[in-house]
Amino acid sequence: MERLQKVIAHAGVASRRKAEQMIIDGKVKVNGEVVKELGTKVSSNDDVEVEGVPIVKEAPVYYLLYKPRGVISSVSDDKGRKVVTDYLPEVDERIFPIGRLDYDTSGLLLLTNDGEFANLLMHPKHEVDKVYIAKTKGIPTREQLQQLKKGINIDGEYLKAVHAKINSSDPKKNSAIIQVILHEGKNRQVRRMFEALGYPVDKLKRERYGTLDLRGMNAGDSRPLKPHEVKQLR
Ligand code: URA
Repeated sequence: MERLQKVIAHAGVASRRKAEQMIIDGKVKVNGEVVKELGTKVSSNDDVEVEGVPIVKEAPVYYLLYKPRGVISSVSDDKGRKVVTDYLPEVDERIFPIGRLDYDTSGLLLLTNDGEFANLLMHPKHEVDKVYIAKTKGIPTREQLQQLKKGINIDGEYLKAVHAKINSSDPKKNSAIIQVILHEGKNRQVRRMFEALGYPVDKLKRERYGTLDLRGMNAGDSRPLKPHEVKQLR
């Protein structure tokens, strides 16, 4: 038996807080009856409906993908471009990516059918280290990288890195390889931060997400997460 709000959140319909509000608002039915009690427990035999739509209860699954460049972080594309689920084994579960990597960014992406887990990891309070390697046009100074750690205001949005350091630089080619760690996951965050400093990013890869990395994997490889890996991320 599980609490109703947890079952709704797990199904990816809403965060647990929103699910609670939906229950209070009378939008949730269990076995055809409106239930407004937050503590209500349901089993896998109970039929749960949210705003008239039945919840599909699936066992949660978790995958790690080494996303190649030139792939959309989505489960379908109306222009026929490659999508991340093309790189996973055929699964019955309705999985979706946790956050996204840009079309031209490669690296570590998690996919799941567990909406609550996804909401948890994407919440800004859940400070997961996301480690990126960026190749920039031009070589930023230490002071400029320091600026990224202080935070910069871009078009009214305040973007911040936890850490940024030059791994190597090539003055002849006028480029640098920079390690950047973010806790946030704002749209095109690394690219926008470096653009703001005047050093466009040529290549970007996410090489670590919390305790997970891409060791032993090639672009396009995927694998299920081990139960202890899921636990560590929570
Ligand atoms: N920052 C970016 O600019 N792009 C990504 O895909 C991820 C982080």
